Amino acid sequence: MSGLILREDQRDDYDPQHAVPTNKGRYYSDPACDPDDPNRLLISVTNAIDQHMIEALAPAAARDTAIWLMDNLPAAMRAAADPDDLEAFIKEAKGQYRLQWDKKADLGSRVHAIAEAINLGAPYIHDEEAEPFVDSYREFLTDFHVDMRPGRDIVAAECTVINRTIGYAGTSDIWAKLRFGRPTSPIVPKFRPRAVAADLIPTPDGLWLIDIKTSLTKAASSVYDDYVMQLAALRHAEVALVCPPECRYGDTAGHDSSHEFEVPEFAGTAILNLRTNGYGFIPLPADATAFEAFRGLLPLAHYVHGLELRGYKPIQPPTNTARRDAA
Ligand SMILES: [Zn+2]
Repeated sequence: MSGLILREDQRDDYDPQHAVPTNKGRYYSDPACDPDDPNRLLISVTNAIDQHMIEALAPAAARDTAIWLMDNLPAAMRAAADPDDLEAFIKEAKGQYRLQWDKKADLGSRVHAIAEAINLGAPYIHDEEAEPFVDSYREFLTDFHVDMRPGRDIVAAECTVINRTIGYAGTSDIWAKLRFGRPTSPIVPKFRPRAVAADLIPTPDGLWLIDIKTSLTKAASSVYDDYVMQLAALRHAEVALVCPPECRYGDTAGHDSSHEFEVPEFAGTAILNLRTNGYGFIPLPADATAFEAFRGLLPLAHYVHGLELRGYKPIQPPTNTARRDAA
């Protein structure tokens, strides 16, 4: 695609397998494609959804900037007395929300990495900051009777999923067999909504697609409309990749069809909100309508990512040209 520049220098060890950073956010490199195939790069599910969420970003950034300002009030007062200091202070303040967000994203990535290790029965390095979230994850596994023995309830962990027909890719956190023993489940009493009827939520037994969300500040009941679209996109992917490390970053040489398998049907999809003091398991209706909505974002994202407007500037008015020509 035109306008898309790979940013290999921005690669991160915690990036999901096959993910590649670009100047237009995260893409995935399909290891089954030739390196020079233009269809090799697939937009990431969350990158496409960002097209829809852009409006929510400004208030979130404003909030984090305000919090930082309150934490640095004496410095702000001092800087306000001198125009040069003020300019430097504002410059510093403007960068703070991004630092905060990167820090949060980093913690989230570490929690995901440990959850993956737990799912695979692999060892992991103790991480003080991540540990409360990991405890909550273990609590979820116990409460939901997830059998962690190999080949039992955990079917996949952190696997790349691709839809080549439509052209997108993502990473699915957990596929787990869950047994609720009842077709619907009640809501945890303290989270019962006041404004709408608290219906029982469908909880069929079977394979569930679960996405982990971590936050230090949001409630365990937090859900956003982009979650539903994200789950729908992951659920409707066609193939899952289980590649050895050699295929990381989309290297194609060692990749073959034995690394790929069909994405199964899921009985349900859910968000698992991990918090430092517990968790919330929230089934969400990631149905055909949600998938349609997600699909609708793809042309928008491709259009915006391919748009090059730097050459477009105000032109001279025709009157101006006429006068000069006459002179
Ligand atoms: Zn592979």
